[in-house]
Formats: sequence, C-alpha cells, structure tokens
Amino acid sequence: MTKPMDEKRVGYFCAYTPLEVLNAAGVGHARLLKAGDSETVAAGELFTQSVFCDFSKSCIGGFAQGDPFYSAVDKLYNFHTCASMKRVTELIEGFVPVKLLNLPKLRDLESSRLFFRDEIFELKRDLFELIGHEISDSYIREQIVRYNILRKLIKNISELRKRDNPPISGKDFVEPARAFYYVPPEKLIDTHDKIYRALSAVSGAGSRPLRLMISGSIAADGDRRLLDILEGEMGARVVVEDHCAGLKPFYNTVKETGDPLLALADGYLDQAPCTRMKTLQDNVNFAGQLAQEYQVDGVLHVYLKFCSCYGITKKPFLNHFQSIDIPVLDLSSDYSGNDYGQIKTRIKAFIEVINARRSKKNGSNTICRRCTG
Ligand code: SF4
Repeated sequence: MTKPMDEKRVGYFCAYTPLEVLNAAGVGHARLLKAGDSETVAAGELFTQSVFCDFSKSCIGGFAQGDPFYSAVDKLYNFHTCASMKRVTELIEGFVPVKLLNLPKLRDLESSRLFFRDEIFELKRDLFELIGHEISDSYIREQIVRYNILRKLIKNISELRKRDNPPISGKDFVEPARAFYYVPPEKLIDTHDKIYRALSAVSGAGSRPLRLMISGSIAADGDRRLLDILEGEMGARVVVEDHCAGLKPFYNTVKETGDPLLALADGYLDQAPCTRMKTLQDNVNFAGQLAQEYQVDGVLHVYLKFCSCYGITKKPFLNHFQSIDIPVLDLSSDYSGNDYGQIKTRIKAFIEVINARRSKKNGSNTICRRCTG
C-alpha cells in the first residue's frame, strides 16, 4: 500500500479497474495479485470447492490467513469478471467491506460503454462515501494523463525486447509492470523513465536468444515457475506476455479529452481484450498480433486449472497460431507444484522442437503435436 496510515486503503483484483478514479480519490490502492503458493490456496479451499481456480482461492486465502498486505485494505472493489471472482468477492465480504461492480462482456456495443460509464460513476460515488469528499472530474482527467505516461513508459520498456538481443529479461520486465499496480504514477514515472533510458543505452550486441511469448490465464505475483524454468534453466527469453499481469494492460492508452468517465469506460473496454470479453476471436487475434510483433519463436499457452475463461480458448488459439505458423505448447497447471517435473520435461521438448525448426531452412511442422496437450 502506498499512502500514510491515516488514509483509506483499497484493494482490487482485476486489470479492468480504473486506477485513475482510485488515485484521484487520494486513497492508497493496490491490486491484490499475490498468489502462487499452495498454503494460501489451501486456506481459500476451506471456503470453496476445488473447482475454483487456484488464483481465486488464493484471493480468499490471503484474507483468511491475515496476510498483512490484504488486512491493510479498508475496502475491496471488484468488477464482475469471471463467475469465480464474483463468488470469491462475495465471500471476502466476511473479512472486509466489499463493493462489487459490473463489467459488460459485449465490449463493442454503445450500450455497454454507457453502462460501464455508469458503473465507474458508481465507483466514484462509493469512494466519496469512503473518503468523505468529492472527486472532481478535472482531477480524474489529470490522472488519466499521468497513467497514460506510465503506460507508455512500460510499453516502451517492453518494446526494447523487440531487439534481437533484448536488454531486459521477462523475469525483470514483470517488476516495472507490477509496480504499476502497487505504486501511484506520481512516484513511479521518474523511476520508469530512468529504467527506460538505462535499458535503451544497453548495447544490442550479442546472439539472439530463443524468443517466447507466455499467453493465457493470470500470472500472479508469486507464480514465477514458468519464468524460472524458461529463462533460469533453459536459457530462453520471454519477450512478451499476453496475460493481464504482463504487457497486455499497457498496450493502449485512455482518451485524454471529453467526459473522463466515458473516456475511462472506452479506454478500459478497448484495452487488449481479456478472454472473458466477447468475442473470443478478438483475444486470439490480439495474441497472434503480439507474437508476430515481437517475432517470437514459440508460444506457451497457459491454462490455470479450472479457469472458466481460459478453459475455452485452446482450440481457436491453436488453430490461429497454426495458421500464422508459430509453434504453441499448451500447458495446464496450478499452484501445487506437483507438476513441476512434467512441465519442465514438456518445455524442454518444445524448445528442442523450436531449435530444430529454426535450424531447418524449410521446416514443415507448425505445431508440435508431441508438446500440445
Ligand atoms: S484465472 Fe480464470 S477463473 Fe481464475 S480468476 Fe482469472 S479468469 Fe477467473
């Protein structure tokens, strides 16, 4: 949390939460993104059946365990993303006051935009009750500008990974990306600007590593097994993330003119689409565009077990990547750690296939059948 002790602190889960309004309210705010260990999952499982994903269980588990980061929250704001998170939010009301808001799924409709604007207005109204003073539109507009600067900086840092020899690893990139959710922009812009300048000055010389994209379910702050295996053990580089805790939320900016609440509604609905938004094909097309933009050699399509949203993307995702000739490894996992050896073996085989493919002039395999689930 980022504010002095006497100020209100709010938490949220989803990247569709307009931080501009939270920051304009002057509250401390943080995305509750910590997850990845089996103990927290077990604490959450006391409240749910096993068919909830491990991330949603961890969200309850963090509160149930009395994690100080979670306990510091005066109020939780959550948008209705997937059914699991809606139910989890209702349960969390037993620990902390909660405000559940709605997020339209049909993002292209004019009515969705007006509806979402109303929900953002409701967020603003509820924050007024929490903090006891009005949040002016001009201050929200100011925050839109600040957050846009920060989004552009994070995107610029990411784009340095388009170099043949990227100056930053995937493991290191997630730090400035996640700081976005923990530190307000007025404190972060200078730091990120310095990071960008320092990385820009790094020489691009050196050999081209094997370049990978991770796509799929949320990668929580604490769920770093894949990055450890890929970059720490296999020597590959994750050059781009198509998930909501990597590059994806920083791909677009919010309009800086006009009604700020409508601009936020448009901006957040127009951000790189989460698979819970319709249409599914938008999500798949964006993943393909990102993979081509960053010239990846292969993609890991990651499904967090029991995730209701990403549980249905596999077939269209594999079909699309086959059509653009980029190999995909489809992985399903959870936070138990039981499958570590199996995942490592499959990744190793996948990397061998990609390396063989790269070394062939006219390789014919587009999808590694051995490695896809
Ligand atoms: S991983 Fe899937 S089921 Fe879990 S919170 Fe995210 S969208 Fe919902």
